[in-house]
Amino acid sequence: MDLNFTKEELAFRDEVRNFIDEHFDAEMRAAMKRTRTGYIAKHLHIRWQKALNGKGWLAPNWPKEYGGPGWTAAQRYIYDQEMMSAGAPIVVPFGPRMLAPVIMKFGTPEQKQKYLPDILASNTWWCQGYSEPGSGSDLASLQMKCEDKGDHYLCNGSKIWTSEAQHADMIFCLVRTAQGKKPQEGISFILIDMKTPGVTVAPIVTIDEPGAHMQEVNQVFFDDVKVPKENLVGEWNQGWTCAKYLLEFERGNAYSGSLKRGLQRIRRTAEAEMAGGGQPLIADPAYAARLAQIEIEVMALEMTELRILGQLSSGQNVGAASSILKTRGTELQQAVTELGAETVGYYMLPFTPLVEGGNEPTIGPDYADGVAQRYLNMRKVSIYAGSNEIQRNIMSKLILGL
Ligand SMILES: Cc1cc2nc3c(=O)[nH]c(=O)nc-3n(C[C@H](O)[C@H](O)[C@H](O)COP(=O)(O)OP(=O)(O)OC[C@H]3O[C@@H](n4cnc5c(N)ncnc54)[C@H](O)[C@@H]3O)c2cc1C
Repeated sequence: MDLNFTKEELAFRDEVRNFIDEHFDAEMRAAMKRTRTGYIAKHLHIRWQKALNGKGWLAPNWPKEYGGPGWTAAQRYIYDQEMMSAGAPIVVPFGPRMLAPVIMKFGTPEQKQKYLPDILASNTWWCQGYSEPGSGSDLASLQMKCEDKGDHYLCNGSKIWTSEAQHADMIFCLVRTAQGKKPQEGISFILIDMKTPGVTVAPIVTIDEPGAHMQEVNQVFFDDVKVPKENLVGEWNQGWTCAKYLLEFERGNAYSGSLKRGLQRIRRTAEAEMAGGGQPLIADPAYAARLAQIEIEVMALEMTELRILGQLSSGQNVGAASSILKTRGTELQQAVTELGAETVGYYMLPFTPLVEGGNEPTIGPDYADGVAQRYLNMRKVSIYAGSNEIQRNIMSKLILGL
């Protein structure tokens, strides 16, 4: 693998940097500095995503025919690394990353025409309705009922842990449409307008957000919700195929760029923070060895990402290898935030809620701001998008053939 960039690739890197300088404005920078979840205020995400779309860069993984930029693997890598190392806002994944590939593969021509340009334009905000109170890892046991009432569908039940549902205009849902021999049979994939009568969103307050200033997850209730029939994606009772296809896109992420950024921040803190004996923390050999160990593991992950993602052409999914990226990436996210917490030590204790748009001064040094919240928030990453234990089951079956 040749890791040296060509002249054209270096010019592309400059173009990405110029874009970031121009569009990653002060309001977004302040919000990104304080976010513990990766989400910032909706209007900022929309502003950022519209700028990306104006440049044709919103959906790097989409095939060109649907509006993807048609980049090489090297360009995608450069783009990801530059965005992550600048700490730029994420593209909220539910529409562009998760639903869009399903619509491209299983949607009708009308659905493609209606939803894909709209997702690129960030006009409709989506959320994901997979998990239910009794169905997480064992997703196929889901019970939210959807009945065919002739001229419409009728839905009853509830979804849980629905990220960002409070901001969503639409939700894509897995629903039970028949009792098959196997639980995977009799599931359908439908799209529901969140403004339909009978849809209620209830926030769930998590440990990292006392006072629910910036909720991340919700429970969504569906009480006799009428859904137009054209909102079924794929075949009736065959939604499990769409569900599995979507999950490979959900998990096929690159993590190394933001991990490297986190480690740089920790290194700077350890240079400023004093350990015993008037020496900076970084001079402590045991601490330095621990930091170096994680840096090496992040480099190894980066090589794995290059190997796996570099083989893909636009629109292709990562397949079962997405479980490797998800497991290793999230283990390292937790290792980095744990080390971050230990680095600031007791300065982590004043727990200032990261209020959206808030301008409360921090208690203690600036570098300790948000460290506790991010450490607590990162407990989620080995659970969501399919827990890491489930990813290991997938790897053992589909990659190792056990
Ligand atoms: C912050 C956050 C955001 C989320 N956002 C969304 C969202 O937007 N939309 C959505 O639909 N869902 C979302 N989820 C839900 C997420 O997908 C589930 O939490 C996850 O699939 C695990 O399910 P569960 O919570 O029911 O845990 P369980 O399935 O009950 O698992 C509990 C524990 O048992 C282990 N376990 C279970 N089965 C096995 C097995 N067969 N082998 C080995 N170990 C096993 C698990 O690894 C876990 O440690 C979110 C979750 C979190 C934490």
